Parts: sequence; C-alpha cells; structure tokens
Amino acid sequence: MAEHTSDADRVVVALGGNALVEADSSWTYEDQLAVLEETATELAGLLEAGTDLVLVHGNGPQVGNRLLEQEDAETPRLPLDVLVAGTQAEIGYPLGQALESAASGATVATVLTRIVVDPEDSAFEEPTKPVGPFYDEETAASKPFETRRTGKGERPYRRVVPSPEPLEVVERETIGRLLEREDAVICAGGGGVPVSRGDALEGVEAVVDKDYTARLLGTELEADTLLFLTDVEYAYADYGGPDQRPLREVAVDELRTRLENDEFAPGSMGPKVRACCQFLERGGDRAVITTPGRLEAALAGETGTRVRP
Ligand code: ADP
Ligand code: MG
Repeated sequence: MAEHTSDADRVVVALGGNALVEADSSWTYEDQLAVLEETATELAGLLEAGTDLVLVHGNGPQVGNRLLEQEDAETPRLPLDVLVAGTQAEIGYPLGQALESAASGATVATVLTRIVVDPEDSAFEEPTKPVGPFYDEETAASKPFETRRTGKGERPYRRVVPSPEPLEVVERETIGRLLEREDAVICAGGGGVPVSRGDALEGVEAVVDKDYTARLLGTELEADTLLFLTDVEYAYADYGGPDQRPLREVAVDELRTRLENDEFAPGSMGPKVRACCQFLERGGDRAVITTPGRLEAALAGETGTRVRP
C-alpha cells in the first residue's frame, strides 16, 4: 500500500444503510456482502491514493434483527449496548475483508468502540429513536421496555430508545495510533457502544446517531474531510417539493440557515447536515454528502453536496 506520510489526507467516512445492505427489502447475508464489496471497491481508490481512512458504519437493520432474536424466550436477554457491540463485529469483519480484497495489500484494523454519553442528556427524558420489531398494542404493553406508536396498520408499535449526543470516543487514542500504521480503521459502528462515565464506564441502553459520532471523530482526529455516503447523490433544497434542487457547493453559513429553517428531515438528512455544519464550525475543511458510487467524483468537486467554510 501507499506510504503513510504525516501529511496524508485523512478522511472520516460515515457509511449509511444503503452502503451496507439494500434498504427495505428482505435481505440475506450474501446480499449484504455483495453491497459491502461494491462499497469497498469505491473506497479502494482512496486507499490506493494513500488516504488515511476512518470508517464509521450504521447498523439499523442488523441491530433490528438482533432485537428480533431477543423476542425468543429461550434466548437470554442482552442489553441493547451489548447488541450494538455485536453488530460492530457482524459488519466490521466482512467490511474489513472486503476492503482488504478490493485494495490489495491494504491493512485494515477494526476497533470495538465505546462512546461516552451524558446520562443527563435530555434525550433520556423522552426516548424517540424507534428500534427493532413492530408490535400490536397488547404485545407492546407487555414489553419490559418503552414502546410507542410509530406507524399505522396492525402492528404500529416499536421500542423507542434515547439517542443522546456523543461526547467522547473512549478508544480515540488507540484509533489515532492505528491510523499511523494501518491504511484504514473501521470504528464506532452503529454510532458506537454508548457508555456513561461514573466511577467506571457503564453500558447504557441507547443508540448514538452514527452521523454525529463520525463528526466527533472527524473533529478529534483532525480529519481533512468528513464524507457521508448514503442513498442520495445530494442533499436537496425543497426536498420532495416543486422546487427541489441539489445543493452542490454550499457555504457552511448558508447550510446552517437552511438547517435551522427545518429544510432537512430530522431522522435522516437532518443529522448529516447538522454534522457537516458542526465539523466545519470546529475547524474542518470540507464535508461532502453523496452516494458510494459517486464518491470519487464528489471528492474531485464534480458532484455531491460539498460544504465549505
Ligand atoms: P443513511 O442510512 O445513509 O443514514 P438516511 O435514510 O438516514 O440514510 O438518510 C438519507 C435519506 O434522507 C434519503 O434517502 C432521503 O430520503 C432523505 N432526505 C430527507 N431530506 C432530504 C433532503 N433535503 N435531501 C436529500 N435527502 C433527504
Ligand atoms: Mg440515517
């Protein structure tokens, strides 16, 4: 692989659901592997150019399946933080192998990563993040956790968990050291395993948004670029409306204003746009939103939403 010079470009990539598995379809492990391999092929170009790569992946569908298994009374109940930790292996392992194959000779380290959250975070007062299977009203009421009506139909209820802000990456120093030696580090999968800091670190049943964790890592590792790979080529103004148009080159001030005007959906594009703004406001150079297939063109300034100071 390419030489690791101290001035190598450092890129933190947030890999969305679509870069991992085809969304909203029943999928098999082989389907997921095929999508991972495609994404890895796109990322290989960056590795071959000598970029230091940090990959933060989502885990929505995967942790959903682990929660579904928990419905089986024969299986011992595991806390959500443990299930999230499991998905870091479930996704990190094949993703790492796919990268090593795509960029032959590349070295990839996968780090089990914990994220410190504040137990006083207002997210704990009102859990809003739906996770896992759908239930009817009666089943939902019998569950040992908080559920909420989140949709329509016969089974409109889901478990809801808090989604607090990530404050600190516990493995930050380790990740920094690994980056000096390896070509890529996969870390903080699913947004990281949430822990709170008391006398010791303790697991918390919550989910941290991987977009915010990627931003935190980007700032802490002084990355040059924060790159969001998702299923849309751009963040759009007036999304779904009559004046829908792609945001191409956009200044952080303009994007911040649009964010505050609620132009981006809270559970999807909103966190990415907010993370882009935070990254630039804390000294980052550029943030980019695009699809895996367009990443090289986007980094060359030809497509995607490119946020500038
Ligand atoms: P990921 O798994 O990558 O985090 P999300 O589903 O959370 O993906 O976010 C991407 C989705 O955001 C797109 O598929 C799109 O439907 C939605 N979206 C909401 N608002 C916008 C917008 N203003 N511009 C583009 N996409 C938007
Ligand atoms: Mg998302």
